[in-house]
Amino acid sequence: MPKFAMRKILFVTSEAHPLIKTGGLADVAGSLPKVLNEMGVDVRLIMPNYQAIKTTEEIYYKSTIRVNNINAHILETRLPGTKVPVWLLDCPEFFDYPGNPYVDELGKPWLNSAQRFAFFCRIVVEVAMNRGYLEWRPDIIHCNDWQTGLVPALLSLEKDLRPATIFTIHNMAYQGLFPKETRVMLNLPSRLWSSNGVEFNGMLSFIKGGIVYADRITTVSPTYANEIQTADFGYGVEGLLSYRQEYLTGIVNGIDVDQWNPQTDTNISACYDATSLHKKQLNKAALQIKYALPVDKNIPIFVLISRLVEQKGIDLLLECLPEMLNLPLQFVLLGKGDKLLEQQLFRFSKKYPEKMVVNLGYDEALAHQFEAGADIFLMPSRFEPCGLNQLYSQRYGTVPIVTRTGGLADTVVDTLPETLKNKTATGFVFNAPTVGSLMEAIKRALIVYENSKDWKQLQINGMKKDYSWNRSAKEYLALYEKL
Ligand code: ADP
Repeated sequence: MPKFAMRKILFVTSEAHPLIKTGGLADVAGSLPKVLNEMGVDVRLIMPNYQAIKTTEEIYYKSTIRVNNINAHILETRLPGTKVPVWLLDCPEFFDYPGNPYVDELGKPWLNSAQRFAFFCRIVVEVAMNRGYLEWRPDIIHCNDWQTGLVPALLSLEKDLRPATIFTIHNMAYQGLFPKETRVMLNLPSRLWSSNGVEFNGMLSFIKGGIVYADRITTVSPTYANEIQTADFGYGVEGLLSYRQEYLTGIVNGIDVDQWNPQTDTNISACYDATSLHKKQLNKAALQIKYALPVDKNIPIFVLISRLVEQKGIDLLLECLPEMLNLPLQFVLLGKGDKLLEQQLFRFSKKYPEKMVVNLGYDEALAHQFEAGADIFLMPSRFEPCGLNQLYSQRYGTVPIVTRTGGLADTVVDTLPETLKNKTATGFVFNAPTVGSLMEAIKRALIVYENSKDWKQLQINGMKKDYSWNRSAKEYLALYEKL
């Protein structure tokens, strides 16, 4: 696509798979730039050089930038397995600690998060304005989530011609709110400090930096783009988002179809596709054996892979468990998060060892084995900007049960007589995040599961869908062109 070849895009993120990942943002940052690069776009990533970053690629020193009296080295590497250059912002005093981008090794949020990410944003501004000795002047700065929110804000103050900015919201629930004294500590220009700027109810809001000052705002599904303009999902910023709706669009995330491919997946016991679905059974048996569950191909296995937090409806699920575990099913869960939720889930698994297993941890390979071995994927989220697991599930012939919200509503088609007939049904969608609604969807799924012909059709419908990045990347390209 030579038309786009001239564009230079700097993709700004706090995490990118496989370098470092805590959630869906890393998946997007690890795959969208890769696809754009394959389409001929000159796209580069910039992110902090955390201690936990893992890579097999070489890393070179590129330059040193000084802001706020602190030196930072820019190191260059590549997104593993791709040609996408990655600039790592190396500043040991902020980033060379064990833990993840947001919490320390004990799971406590970094006390200096504001300083860490404000520093990151200032460095990005230097690179954006071609003052980073990198000999590369981007046309567009694509920022993601609150950690990058100060980039559009600071760039708006530049006198020289600046690149255009896009700010993508992956989750409105995380806003980067800090006490007002933080503004002074960060030495932020007072011109940014107003209710039309980065101030939010007397606090400093990083996310507002993106929402107020970016040339375009996107979020990760059309339904979520509408939802965040309402009080239920907007966390007090709904008015501003609504005011800027002309500049706000929703683009559903794609998935990395090379990594998540049941035909070639090296993590699973037996590879399969829509024409060899019987081999999925082998993965199911492997899962049952691994977790010492009765090996039975007729009993449906439900799985859930998630951060264990309220957003994901784990509390709803806990309320359902007494009834759910009396139904003919097995349930295997992989997750990590809220300690209280972890304990409660674990207690259930001890009470029903023949039916429920809880694996408390984060394990990428296991996530693949779960997707391959399961019949049904549970995703009872209270809200879900896009969600990825319902997409992976469909690709693996695992039928998702989801709440009608955000990206889940946009990507799962409910099973009804007419959608079964016209072969569009891909899962079970329930209307409200309530115990009653979720239980009803579980029971509906069990009824359809009994009819193996219908069930197979559901699996195939999902497996045939195209959730590759190609489609979404084209939407981003169209947006870049508008700028
Ligand atoms: P979010 O970004 O809100 O956590 P998404 O569904 O968008 O939710 O993305 C979550 C990603 O993290 C998926 O790729 C999912 O498979 C993965 N994931 C979440 N928890 C775990 C876990 N415990 N082990 C392995 N992968 C996980």
